[in-house]
Amino acid sequence: MLNTAVVTGGAKGIGAAISVALAKAGYNVIMGYKTSRERAEELAKVIISGYGVSCEAIYCDVTDPESARNIVDIAAKKYGSVDILVNNAGVAQQKLFTDITDDDWNRMIGVNLTGVFNTCRVASKYMVGQKSGSIVNISSMWGQVGASCEVHYSAAKAGVIGLTKALAKELAPSGVRVNCVCPGVVMTDMMKDFSEETLRELSEETPLGKLGTPKEIADAVAFLCSDRASFITGQILGVNGGFVI
Ligand code: NAP
Repeated sequence: MLNTAVVTGGAKGIGAAISVALAKAGYNVIMGYKTSRERAEELAKVIISGYGVSCEAIYCDVTDPESARNIVDIAAKKYGSVDILVNNAGVAQQKLFTDITDDDWNRMIGVNLTGVFNTCRVASKYMVGQKSGSIVNISSMWGQVGASCEVHYSAAKAGVIGLTKALAKELAPSGVRVNCVCPGVVMTDMMKDFSEETLRELSEETPLGKLGTPKEIADAVAFLCSDRASFITGQILGVNGGFVI
């Protein structure tokens, strides 16, 4: 029975829904936060009282290798294993390609791609030792097809897809599965600067005719983490209402 899940950026938006979905499925959850400390601590209380699992909010900046190591080590020390890792932490930015600064580029790659590398490197050591484990990386449909004015974001998210496929091949002989979820447009703080009109257009462009909810992404992640997905590895699952097929 798998029992411990680490979720980066697990306190809000899609990450919070993932933390809840995994708690609901019976996992003890170590929830990473960077700036949302209060939300993380509040959510941990809700999870503990609502689902009867253990839940802890831990500071984790995924761009810092030591911070990434710390959150995974805490899970291993506290529960004796690291069974699930969900790399959800991410940042987005809309800019003309020629306006992207070195800092913009480094931040986008640092959080969205190097962050995934940092946690996977630590977690995979535990998982290979256990001969079991499941990693789910959150990319984006823009990592699959590219988005205008989001070249750095798209590049980082495409990198996550490449990392997922290669790591899945490397870890499969050790019984560790690695998959990727590519959300479509989901209403979270990441979309808060988009105008009502743009959001309506994005919703109309989505064949299912609506924006996604964090829970719809979390349900797909929980499935990939579970034993029901025991023969699935190296896969890139679009959860996008048909936006990218
Ligand atoms: P969000 O509400 O803005 O949440 C972003 C999360 O990332 C927060 O929990 C934040 O933690 C965390 N984070 C940011 N920088 C971090 C860092 N350096 N270290 C650790 N955590 C960090 O956005 P969201 O929509 O839920 O995004 C979640 C994931 O889904 C991201 O990877 C995003 O790229 C992906 N995605 C979202 C959409 C969408 O339409 N919303 C579409 C495709 C993919 P704190 O708040 O604690 O700082």
